[in-house]
Amino acid sequence: MHILLVEDDAQLAESLATAMRAQGWRADVSARGEPVPASLRQDAYDVLVLDIGLPGIDGLETLRRVREQGSFLPVLMLTARDGVDDRVLGLEHGADDYLAKPFALSELLARLRALVRRHELRRSETLVLAALRYDAAARRAHIGEQPIHLSARECIVLQYLMLKTGQVVLRDQLAALVPGWDAATSDNAIELLISRLRAKIEPGGVRLRTVRGLGYRLEPAPAAAA
Ligand code: CA
Repeated sequence: MHILLVEDDAQLAESLATAMRAQGWRADVSARGEPVPASLRQDAYDVLVLDIGLPGIDGLETLRRVREQGSFLPVLMLTARDGVDDRVLGLEHGADDYLAKPFALSELLARLRALVRRHELRRSETLVLAALRYDAAARRAHIGEQPIHLSARECIVLQYLMLKTGQVVLRDQLAALVPGWDAATSDNAIELLISRLRAKIEPGGVRLRTVRGLGYRLEPAPAAAA
């Protein structure tokens, strides 16, 4: 297991990294958030442990930037206190779990193991609808054997629509899901992404419907008339 630990308290960082290495894991330490998105692009990490209180950009902003580049890496946030606000903010920003300081080392190690196991299960998932296939681990879509090229945002939206096949997905749900989008994101921006996605996936025998005033629904295309 390869861990990126972002913690500005040098003494704490060193003791955590030592404990992780004693498990046979690889642990890299960064004292700041700014280099994290680039580090994640360069190295294959299994999990990110992110302190919320950092000099420069804080843990939440770091996490936002990580998610914005389309990374689904599991993230455990360390909060300075058992602040509900921090926890809620962290989860809203896309953290998978959090731990309030001070914590027992054994608790951190157990949480990390559980987090990576859950993530592995999710990563192995391949979603299929008609001839359209989405591999969540590789974040690649295919129609039959033909790869479809999707942006990071299109990947997130497609994965969610496929998980909710046959159900209406509200515009607000999509806006909350996509990094860099929020409630203020215009309907036009969402519609533009949907229409691009529709053009790419509908040749796979699926239909991406606009449900007027509500959102979108992905479903198998009706069988062609014989
Ligand atoms: Ca700190």
